[in-house]
Amino acid sequence: MIDVKTAFLLWVIQAGTLAILLVAIWLHARDQRYHLWFGLGFGLQAIGLGMVGLRDQIPDFLSIQVGNVLSLLGFACWCRAICSFDNRRPPLYIISPAVIWILGNLIPQLRAEMGYRMAIYDVAAAVGLGALGFLALKGSFSTRRYRVMLATVWYIQAGACLVFAYLATRIMPQTFKEMTLAVAVSGVGLVSFVTAMTLIAKMMMDRSEERLQALVRTDPLTGALNRRGFAEAYQQLVDSAPSTALGLLIFDLDHFKQVNDIHGHQVGDRVLLEFAAICKSLLPQRGAFGRTGGEEFAAVLAVSEVRDAALFAETVRLALAERRIETTRDAIHVTTSIGISVSALAGADLDKMMSQADAALYAAKAQGRNRTSVKAGATVVTVPPEHGDVLDVINQQADRQVAILNRIAAVANNLHD
Ligand code: GH3
Ligand code: MG
Ligand code: MG
Repeated sequence: MIDVKTAFLLWVIQAGTLAILLVAIWLHARDQRYHLWFGLGFGLQAIGLGMVGLRDQIPDFLSIQVGNVLSLLGFACWCRAICSFDNRRPPLYIISPAVIWILGNLIPQLRAEMGYRMAIYDVAAAVGLGALGFLALKGSFSTRRYRVMLATVWYIQAGACLVFAYLATRIMPQTFKEMTLAVAVSGVGLVSFVTAMTLIAKMMMDRSEERLQALVRTDPLTGALNRRGFAEAYQQLVDSAPSTALGLLIFDLDHFKQVNDIHGHQVGDRVLLEFAAICKSLLPQRGAFGRTGGEEFAAVLAVSEVRDAALFAETVRLALAERRIETTRDAIHVTTSIGISVSALAGADLDKMMSQADAALYAAKAQGRNRTSVKAGATVVTVPPEHGDVLDVINQQADRQVAILNRIAAVANNLHD
C-alpha cells in the first residue's frame, strides 16, 4: 500500500498536469471559458494539496489552513465550469466547501485535532461534490443520461468522503500514516474521478462537434443559416408536417450594388446584418430563415394559406423600409423585393418552390421593386404597395397588420386560383 504522502504527490502531479492542459486549451478558444474554470479548479487542488503534503516542511498555518482552503476553492471553480458549460450564472453556494472549512477551523477544539480537521475537510469536499452533482442533474447540457451518470459518480465520491470523515473521527490520527485504512476508501474516489473525467471529456468533445456542425450550416456575416443549413431546415419542416402547406419567400435587396458603391462595403455588410436581424425577429416559430446568396435571403414558413406568407413578407418589407441605417455621412433607407411561392406539404420540393418564388421576385423587381409578388398557379400576383405616407400614420402593430391584410385582400381572388 502506498503511503499518504506519495498519494498526495501523485494527485498533485495529476491535477497540475490537467490544470496546464486545460488552461492551454482555453488560451486557444477563449470563448469556451469552462476549460479555464476546470483548469483553475485543478490548479487550486494541485497547489492546495501540494501544501498539505508539505506538512512539517512549511509552516503549519500555510500547510493546514491555507492549503486546504485553496484545494476546497477548487470545487467552486469546477462548479463554475459546469455552470459555464451550461450557459448559466453560477450560484453563490458553490463556495460553501471553503466556507465550511474556515468556519470549522474557527472552533479551537476542532482545529486542534488532526482527526477533526480531516473530518471537516471531507464533509466540505462532500458538499462540493454534492453541489457538482446537483448542478449536473438540473443542467440542460449534453443528454440527460450522461448528466445522471455524472451526478451519480459525484454522489458516490461524496459518499466516500463522508465515510472518510467518519473514519477520521473514529481513528483520530496524529499523523497521515495512521490513516492507511482511509487510503483504501480514497481508492473509490480515484475510480470515480477517472470516470467523471471520461464523461466530461466525452461531453466536451460532443460540444465541439456540435459547434463545428453549426458552423458548417451558418453564414459567418449574418449568423443566419447558409444555403446548406436552409435546405436542411426546409426538409425538417417538411418532415415534421406542422401544417398542410409551406410558403417559401425569396428576399433580394433593392439596388444593393449602389449601397456598396456609394457608401462602401462596410455599410453594405451592416445593411445585410440589419436585414437578417429584422427577419429573424419577425420569423414565426414554425419557420426558417437563411442567406442563400450575396444580398439574397430566403424564408420558409408553415402556412395554412397564401395570405400567411404574404403577411409575413409585407411585415418584413415595411420594417426594413422604415429602418434608418446610419452611415458616416447620413442615414440611409434600404428596401427589398420579395417573391413567394406556396406548395402543399405533400410533395413539397425546395428546388421547385425556389424557382417559382424566383419568378415572382422577378415580377416584383420589374414592377418597381420594394414590393411583394406571389406566384399563384400560372400567374404572378403583386400585392399593391401602400399609399404615400401610410407608414407614418400606421404605428400600431395591430392597425398595421389590418392595413397589410386589406392590401392583400385586394388581390385575394387572384391568389386563390
Ligand atoms: P436589384 O435591385 O436588381 O437586385 O439590384 P442589385 O444592385 O441589388 O443587384 P446586383 O445583383 O447587381 O448587385 C448585388 C450586389 O451585392 C453586388 C455585390 O457586390 C453585393 N454583395 C454581394 N455579397 C455581398 C456582401 O457580402 N457584402 C456586401 N457589402 N456586398 C455584397
Ligand atoms: Mg441579387
Ligand atoms: Mg438586389
